[in-house]
Formats: sequence, structure tokens, C-alpha cells
Amino acid sequence: METWKGEAVVWRRDHEAGAWIFAAIHDSTLGPATGGTRMRPYATAGAALEDAMRLAEGMTEKWAILGLPFGGGKCVIAVDRALEGAEREAFLLRYGRFLESLRGAFQTGEDMGTTPADMAVVARATRHVHGIAPDGSSIDPGPFTARGVLRSIEAALEAAAGNAGLAGRTVLVQGIGDVGAPLSRLLAEAGADVLACDVDAGRAARAANEPGARIVAPEAALATPCDVFAPCAAGGILTAESAEALPCRVVAGSANAQLAEPAAADVLHRRGVVYVPDFVANGGGAAALGLMESGADEAAIVAKVDAIGETVRAILAESAREKEPPLAAARRIVARRLGERRRERGLPG
Ligand code: NAD
Repeated sequence: METWKGEAVVWRRDHEAGAWIFAAIHDSTLGPATGGTRMRPYATAGAALEDAMRLAEGMTEKWAILGLPFGGGKCVIAVDRALEGAEREAFLLRYGRFLESLRGAFQTGEDMGTTPADMAVVARATRHVHGIAPDGSSIDPGPFTARGVLRSIEAALEAAAGNAGLAGRTVLVQGIGDVGAPLSRLLAEAGADVLACDVDAGRAARAANEPGARIVAPEAALATPCDVFAPCAAGGILTAESAEALPCRVVAGSANAQLAEPAAADVLHRRGVVYVPDFVANGGGAAALGLMESGADEAAIVAKVDAIGETVRAILAESAREKEPPLAAARRIVARRLGERRRERGLPG
């Protein structure tokens, strides 16, 4: 906790469901702290808190790169069993009342372990949920995130292989979930050969129906040669050691916090593998939900998601100019934007 540069963590113990709730507010310079709600088991409450703090920082970077007026936040709910049916609904309503008590200092949407339908329940108890349509139904950010990942892959291929075209390229998609499934479809439509990989065989099989697709065993994900590795499952998958052997030219996917250690970015850079920082590649869903809040129409939303490709090109150009990994270039852009806004608002630092 001492090294975390965030603003606050608000926590609550939900005794009825046996859940710990940690709402981490990392940086509200650009606007109210906004990020998804992740619900899953953790070894300890401390591990859940740590995840919330780390993910909230990633959201600060994501909003700053997108240039949208939101701050970095994330809520992690640690549960020791799956909450289902009436118990889940009652818990989500209590969670909504907890969010309402924060008066908008933290705003949320779905994330791993929660669904758009869960968010529609939470929204019955609070105004501070993004992605709720006027009729009370919820919007799935997954397809927008997938579209942003596709644009990132194209831009990275242009830098790595001189051509953004996907025809004949192999793309290994790790995790065929809310993002990985629509991404596999978009890739197949663009002519790529999809290598689908999921610990849930049924999910992998869904993507394997796309033309040119085949299934790769989960344990072979980091060892299977491909043009593009698209991590769309859990974070923390790339260490300096695994980056050293990764048989691809591009890494671009939706998973948050893909690097287990920053040194992995340096190794990829040295090997000439183009790594698109996760908080850049996976901003499509956040952009869509954020813009919907301000009443933007579909064309404006799609244009904003597609603009992620241009952002990646700018980051890769800066990275090449400064002879540094794209992660360092992206972080400098974030720092610049936060600094400018702090000065405009007369804030210290
Ligand atoms: P999801 O839960 O719908 O899908 C994740 C999939 O990964 C599941 O099918 C799961 O079985 C699979 N999986 C888990 N561990 C795996 C492993 N070791 N190997 C292979 N497959 C594995 O989640 P999602 O919404 O698709 O999100 C995927 C990632 O992208 C997460 O890290 C999430 O935080 C991030 N993300 C999602 C969005 C969004 O719009 N949904 C936006 C930004 C970031």
C-alpha cells in the first residue's frame, strides 16, 4: 500500500454474502474515477485489494490515452463462493446502494466475473453505472473492446511486418470470452487464421467454427508460433522469461495487466516483437460506454473505437523515435495529459 500512488480505497465487508468489496480510486484528475467491477475468489482479502489498486491505475492510463473525461478506478469483489439466483440479485442491489453512497466518486460497469445483466441489477440501486440503455437494459462492451483490439493488431502489424492486412496471418486468441469471441469473428472476417485457445473447451470450440480457425491447447498458448498473440483472458501472463521465447511478431490483446513484470516489455522490444500496451489496445469498451454517457451516437462511438488504431500508430512512432518500448512511450503520453490537466485545474504535482 505504501508504494501505491492512488487517492483512496473505499471498502466494505458484505457479511451476508461473505464478500469483500474494494473500490479503488486511483486518479480523478481527468474526471470521476470509473472502471469495471470484477468479482471472483481471491486467496486473501489483501490480494483482492492489491488487484483493485493495480487495475485502478490501469484505468487512469486507459482514460488518459483515450482522451475522455474520466479518472482511474476499479472495484474488486472477493467472494468465497459463486453467488447465484436470488442471493446474487440481493447482493448486487446492496452493492448498488454502496456505490450510491459514494455519490459518483466511483462509477462502474461490468468486468470479469460480472455481466451486463448484473450491471442492470446494480443500476436499479444507483445512478453510477455506465452502459445502461434508457429502457434499463445493459450494453455489452465486449464487441467494442474487440474492435479496438483489431485496430491495434492492424497498426502493430504495419510496424512489425510493413502491412496492416490480416489475410493469411495467424492470430492466437487466448480466451474466447466476451472479447475473444467477437475478436475471433472479426479476425476471421478479415481473412486471418484464428488459433483459438480457452481453458473451457466449449468456448474454444465456438471460435473454431470460424473459417480458417483451429483449436490450440491452453498450455501451448505461449509456445505456438503465430504472427500475433492476442491475450484476452487473465493478466500477468508475460514474464521476462516467457517474453524471451514468445514465437510471434506482435502482442496485442484485451487482457488487463498482461505483463507480470515491466522487464517483459523491454525483452519484447529488444527482440523486435511489437507489444501494444494493454491499456491502449483494450480501451474500446470503455470508450463506447463513456461516450454513451454523454449521449454520443453510434457513428461517433465507432469512430472513437477505430481511432485506437491511430493512437497505436502514434505510440509506435514515438517508441521508434525515442528507441524505447511502446509501453514507455504510452506512459509518457499519459503523464503529459495528466500534467496538462492538473495545471489547467490548478492542482499540485
Ligand atoms: P470473459 O470472462 O468473458 O472471458 C475470458 C475467457 O478466458 C473465458 O472464456 C475463460 O474460460 C478464458 N480463460 C481464463 N483463463 C484462461 C487461460 N489460462 N487460458 C485460456 N483461456 C483462459 O472475459 P472478457 O470480458 O472477455 O475479458 C477478457 C480480458 O479482457 C480480461 O482480462 C478483462 O479484464 C479484459 N477486458 C475486457 C473488456 C470487456 O469489454 N469485456 C474490456 C477491457 C479489458
